[in-house]
Amino acid sequence: MIELVDRAQEFADRTAVVSNGQKHSYRELLDASARIARGLLAGREDLNEARIAFLVPPGFTYVALQWGIWRAGGIAVPLCTKHPTPSLRYVIEDTAAEHVLYTGEFLDQLAPLIEENISSFARAETFGSATDGPLPDISSDRRAMILYTSGTTGKPKGVVTTHDNIRAQIVALVNAWEWSADDRILNILPLHHVHGIINVLSCALWSGASCEFLPRFGEEAIFERFLSGEINVFMAVPTIYFKLIGHYDSLPAHEQRKISAALSDFRLMVSGSAALPVSVLERWREISGHTLLERYGMTEMGMAISNPYRGERKPGHIGQPLDGVHVRLVTEAGTQVPANSVESGEIQVRGNNVFREYWGRPEATAREFTEDGWFRTGDIAVFEGGAYRILGRNSVDIIKSGGYKISALEIEEVLRTHPLIRECGVVGLPDDEWGEIIGASLIADPAAVNLEELAAWLRERLPGYKLPRRYIFQDDLPRNVMGKVTKQELKRAFA
Ligand code: ATP
Ligand code: MG
Repeated sequence: MIELVDRAQEFADRTAVVSNGQKHSYRELLDASARIARGLLAGREDLNEARIAFLVPPGFTYVALQWGIWRAGGIAVPLCTKHPTPSLRYVIEDTAAEHVLYTGEFLDQLAPLIEENISSFARAETFGSATDGPLPDISSDRRAMILYTSGTTGKPKGVVTTHDNIRAQIVALVNAWEWSADDRILNILPLHHVHGIINVLSCALWSGASCEFLPRFGEEAIFERFLSGEINVFMAVPTIYFKLIGHYDSLPAHEQRKISAALSDFRLMVSGSAALPVSVLERWREISGHTLLERYGMTEMGMAISNPYRGERKPGHIGQPLDGVHVRLVTEAGTQVPANSVESGEIQVRGNNVFREYWGRPEATAREFTEDGWFRTGDIAVFEGGAYRILGRNSVDIIKSGGYKISALEIEEVLRTHPLIRECGVVGLPDDEWGEIIGASLIADPAAVNLEELAAWLRERLPGYKLPRRYIFQDDLPRNVMGKVTKQELKRAFA
């Protein structure tokens, strides 16, 4: 987003990025990204929306590349560092990337693709050109980035956003969450996904704040940085909070006290990308004194709905639409749910934050927008007590059984309150009589859980039609690299 680069002049001497324990100023970012832009241009005036893919760890080089691509007029395509070779090939070929820039540690993953010459590959560590010269003017309605969706429900789709789209996504969050130049965020999220790129990195750099990257993910390393007193904002997905809680609970009491004291000084802690279990929200509140701010968004639109920074954060709810984002609920019959109704419907969104198109998939793009220009998210929600609550994805979480529509998320929330169940996943399974029946996978000790007792326990808490008919035990739920439960795969585990 080119305006980030312009704004950086204002903050030139401040620390923008901390990576590998080294501080880098906004001026260093400006210099490095100008060199990269000139290297990419190699004498041309403008990259004219050529796709430039890059595979580097989160840190200074990542940001310099992203900004450099924008400054040269290219479209930034950040690759996922955890992807195996075939997934990398998919993105590089799908975008027809002109260049792939990478750092040494990814050579093995890329070697077969380099050998086949599927693009022009170059090492990022030494890339760039020192020669002076003008950089193109970038109008804000140009395409800026292609991010692939998480692939939770199918093959990842390349989501194209313009500089304007990204600007709207950033500004909505900076205002809502009151970002300032004094903020210091710790980033532990991957940077091929909207959560890390927009909510963490770009909001920080828009504000003149600093973004610190951890060289290696690990609960211990995260707590160490929490204790440093140098961090005041943190964002993660629910599974990470779940892991942090587990680690905290394994520590001796005097260490727990130190961590809790440090966390209570934080300004803001956010969760998103998947539903935040109420049990996790409650335990984290005990540990940190913070009610996690849960928000809802997608690769296609950045964030759309958020609990308030000031004001009541309702557990199990995602809050209200962000400024500039228009939200409506639409029933399957295509009628809009009235404002005061408790009826559920699909979340549809309109605003400058909404993406332009799926890369190379005009039919998919057309399918996901209504005739009057609203984006269909595929997520079902209700508006109750002044806030939205997600019932799940229409495709996998809304179970259609005996004429009822049942939210898998609701049943999961109830199961998680059982003392012997650590985690669970609920899906619909095909059934001749009922259409679908409910299946529940339990992450629990099979020897300790008596299924008849569990059924009786559930009958006291759920109506008959919401009771699971089949159970399996698993060591872990199937998840993708974003930590999201892949429910199609989970369904297959019942076979
Ligand atoms: P794909 O589109 O490839 O199937 P994906 O939808 O998981 O993958 P993302 O764009 O990363 O790709 O995720 C957006 C989805 O994440 C939303 O549509 C929604 O289902 C889910 N989501 C995000 N935030 C929340 C939240 N706070 N509560 C519940 N679900 C959420
Ligand atoms: Mg999606």
